[in-house]
Amino acid sequence: MISTTHDIRQQFPFIVEHKNAIYFDNAATTQKPQIVLESIQNYYKRVNSNIHRGVHSFSIQATEQYEEARNTIAKFINASKPSEIVFTSGTTHSINLLAECLFNTYFHENDEIILSVLEHHSNILPWQNRGKKNKVKLQFATINENFQIDVQHLKSLVNEKTKLIAISHVSNTLGSINNIEEIILFAHTYGIPVLIDAAQSIAHLPIDVQKLDVDFLVFSGHKIYAPTGIGLLYAKEKYHEYMVPLSSGGGTIIDVDLYNTQFANVPLRLEAGTPNIEGVIGLKAAIDFINKNGGIHQFYLWEEELRKYLYQQLNENFSDLIIYTTPQTPSVSVISFNVKNEHPYDVGTLLNNYGIAVRTGHHCTQPLMKYLKIQGTIRVSLAVYNTFEEIDKFIIALNKSIKMLS
Ligand code: PMP
Repeated sequence: MISTTHDIRQQFPFIVEHKNAIYFDNAATTQKPQIVLESIQNYYKRVNSNIHRGVHSFSIQATEQYEEARNTIAKFINASKPSEIVFTSGTTHSINLLAECLFNTYFHENDEIILSVLEHHSNILPWQNRGKKNKVKLQFATINENFQIDVQHLKSLVNEKTKLIAISHVSNTLGSINNIEEIILFAHTYGIPVLIDAAQSIAHLPIDVQKLDVDFLVFSGHKIYAPTGIGLLYAKEKYHEYMVPLSSGGGTIIDVDLYNTQFANVPLRLEAGTPNIEGVIGLKAAIDFINKNGGIHQFYLWEEELRKYLYQQLNENFSDLIIYTTPQTPSVSVISFNVKNEHPYDVGTLLNNYGIAVRTGHHCTQPLMKYLKIQGTIRVSLAVYNTFEEIDKFIIALNKSIKMLS
């Protein structure tokens, strides 16, 4: 069972510090629990040393902690081997790293990649940039009436030239959960690998990469109660042969002479230079925090109650909102909406005057905004420490803000 919300809130120094603030911008980044902050401080106080290179005990301890974190994270997403986990600086870095690898070793001219119109810019630009240079074409699946990727449309785009499908598990703008199970199953009947951008699902939904049989999966630590600057690329072992080092140097090798290098296997050959050791340790602590507090599914159950309540309150109390979800849409705790005839920035600015942090704008999904023919939305995104009382206060503040604007 999940601890009470009060207990959970007490574990977040930011929440305790800002008693009167309401933080509803969790899709952008989450707050960090005390044990994450302590894990980093403890590391620097007691262990701090560079990894993989020393014979002295501090270096050995640092290496052990770093690799133990890899094991914990592999278990968290049920990777079959820790070596399938490559540490990166975050989702954006992971997708860029994968794109560089695949464009160097895997794609050929006239190949095609399928994305969707609701992708975050981080899952469009790396494919767009290299795709143009290498004459690899992008295809985009549209969305259905429930604001999810339209699976039928996506299937209709698949042909013998399709070499990768790269889509998000959950839309960062709309919160809708995509039917990735069906998409992966379909892709594999044609031998097409699938990359899942799990940046917005990792903190809300249990993820089992073996059960999903997904080929690549990426996320950022900071969206799941861990520090910024750390993330990962899960890559199924079968594809490691395509993962050649781009950024090479210390830590990536087995043997070097002046003219030739024998590289280490994945993951080390992709983790060049001194990595973000404190970030890796902080990410492990964040996963420990989740496990100690009941696990991700328990977080989801609480957040789902909050989301349903928020949706009901928005629906019942306002006649002038456009809400970008439906009661049928499977969703994580994110709701995007607009107030008719008002700019989202104006609403967000007024809410800020009431101490409420929401995100406004295009949320790094301009193609989706263009598809929906809007400039932006107001996005409320909830986490495990949010409460019903906060939603009540938000509804009152939104009401006042709209009155002020009209
Ligand atoms: N993809 C999705 C779905 C996201 O929500 C985000 C962050 N908003 C990113 C990618 C990029 O993540 P980061 O900035 O941590 O690299």
